[in-house]
Amino acid sequence: MLDQKEVNKFRFNQIQNQKILVGSNWVHSKSGQTQSIISPIDGKEISKLQVCDHLDVNDAVLSGRETYERGDWSNMPPINRKKIMLKIAELIEKNMLELAVLGARDNGTEINMALKAEPGSAAGTFRYYAEAIDKIYGEISNTSNNFLGLIHKEPVGVVAAIVPWNFPLMIGAWKIAPALAMGNSVVIKPSEAASLSLLKLGEICLEAGLPPGTLNIVTGNGRITGQALALHMDVDVLTFTGSGTTGRKLLEYSAQSNMKKIYQELGGKSPNIVFADTENLEEAAKVSTMGIFRNSGEVCVAGSRLLVEKEIHDEFLGMVYKFTKNLKIGDPLDLNNDIGAINSLSQLKSDLDFVEKAKSEGGKIEIGGNRVLEDSGGFYMEPTIISSVKQDTTIFQNEVFGPVLTVTPFENENDAVELSNATAFGLASGLWTSNLSRAHRMIRKIKAGTVFVNTYGGSDNTLPLTGVKQSGNGSDKSLHALDKFTDLKSVWMKI
Ligand code: NAD
Repeated sequence: MLDQKEVNKFRFNQIQNQKILVGSNWVHSKSGQTQSIISPIDGKEISKLQVCDHLDVNDAVLSGRETYERGDWSNMPPINRKKIMLKIAELIEKNMLELAVLGARDNGTEINMALKAEPGSAAGTFRYYAEAIDKIYGEISNTSNNFLGLIHKEPVGVVAAIVPWNFPLMIGAWKIAPALAMGNSVVIKPSEAASLSLLKLGEICLEAGLPPGTLNIVTGNGRITGQALALHMDVDVLTFTGSGTTGRKLLEYSAQSNMKKIYQELGGKSPNIVFADTENLEEAAKVSTMGIFRNSGEVCVAGSRLLVEKEIHDEFLGMVYKFTKNLKIGDPLDLNNDIGAINSLSQLKSDLDFVEKAKSEGGKIEIGGNRVLEDSGGFYMEPTIISSVKQDTTIFQNEVFGPVLTVTPFENENDAVELSNATAFGLASGLWTSNLSRAHRMIRKIKAGTVFVNTYGGSDNTLPLTGVKQSGNGSDKSLHALDKFTDLKSVWMKI
C-alpha cells in the first residue's frame, strides 16, 4: 500500500533542466534550443527539455553505431549481458517511487497506476528479456547430408525507438529491453510531452554497467527530432508507438531514406461487447468503467466503444453510470483520487472538441463532458459517457484518447460482430458472455490483436501486444518482440 507521506517526499523535488544522453555524456543540444516541460497537475513549468535537431540525432546514431561495431555490447557474452539487464531491473525497482512520481508530474497519471504500470512494468520487462538472453538458439536446417544449413540469429545493429507520452517508461522498456537482449544499440526519443522518466532510465542503465553508447536518448518534438531519427540513413530498424497520423509519416520517411524496417504500435477504438447472458453484470459494469476511464482514457487499448445487447442496454448503462459518478478526479499524486490529469492542454481541448462533435451528431451526454478543477491551473476532465451513438459518427470512428465512453445497443451476435469491426482500428476488444460457444465464435470473428473475455485490461510479458488493420504491425512484449530486433542469416556449407 502506498503511503501519502512517501509520495510527498518526491513530489516537490527540484527537477534539473534536462540534457540528452550521447555515449557516456549528458550534453545540451547543439543548437542550445530548449522547451518547457509543463506539469498537467497545475500547468506550471517543472523543467526544460533539450530540443534536438538532425545534428544531435546524428551524434546519437553514430554513438550507437560505433559501440555496436566495437562489440562492447553486441559481442559481450550473453551471460554477462543478462547480468547487466537484471541489474537495470533491480535499480528501476530501487528507484520505483521516485520514477513513478517523476513520471506522474510529467504526464498526469494517477500515482497508484503510475507505480504499477511504469517502473513496476519496466522492471519486469527488463527481467523478462534478461532471462531470455541465454535461452535463444540458432537453428540447423534439415538439408541433405552433404550440406550443413545453419540459421544464425543476429542483432540488426542500430535500433531507433520513438514513443508516446501515456506510459513512456513501460512502452520504452518494451522496446529497449528486447532490442538490447539481442545485442543491438538503441537510440530512443521519448515524447516531448513526457520525457523525464526515460531520461532517468538512461542514468540507471549507465549505473548498471550498460556500455556507453548502447543506449542513447535524444529529446524534442516529433516534427524535428523524430523526423531526423526516422530519416537517418544509419538506423536499421525503427520501432514506434503512437498515433496512426505519425505512423503514416514514418512509412514515408523510411521510403525516402534507407528503407529501414518500421514496426508500429498504433491507436485503437476498442469495442467492449456485453451480452445479456453475462454472469455478473455488476462486475462487468465495474470492470468496463475502469476499462475506459483508467488513466483518463489515455490507454491505447481502452474499451472506448461499449456495445450492449438491446434487452439490457438501459440497465447496464445505469450500472456504468453509477460507477462513473463515484470516480474522484484530481491531483494524480493525491492518493484519494482515482483519476489524474489529462496530459496537456492541447489533448484536453481535443477531448472536449470530440464531445461537442458527438453532441452535434446526435449523441446524448449521460454524464460528464466538461473541464473541471480549472482553478488549479491543471488539465482535468470529467469522465464522460455518451449514449445513442451511431456507427457513422465521428466519435464512433475515431480515437479520442481521453475519458470518453460511447454506448451503442446491438440486436444479436451478427450485429455485435459487425459493429465491433466497423472502424479502421483493430487493437483490442472485450467480450462479456457466459456462453462458451458464443465466446469462441466471437473471438474468431473480431478483428483485433487482443480479445479480453469476461474481463477488460490486464496482461503480462508473456502475451504480445499487437494490432491488426490500422492499429499497427509489430508486436511489443513476449518472445515474439525479439524478432523485430533480429536478422536471420542462412549459412549453406558443403561438407
Ligand atoms: P504521436 O503520434 O503524436 O507521438 C508519438 C511520438 O511520435 C512522440 O514521441 C512524437 O514526438 C513523435 N512524432 C510525432 N510526429 C512525428 C514525426 N513527424 N516524425 C517522427 N516522430 C514524430 O502520439 P501521442 O499523442 O504521443 O500518443 C498517443 C497515441 O499513441 C494514441 O494514438 C495511442 O493509441 C497510441 N498508443 C498506442 C499504443 C500501442 O501499444 N498500440 C500504446 C500507447 C499509445
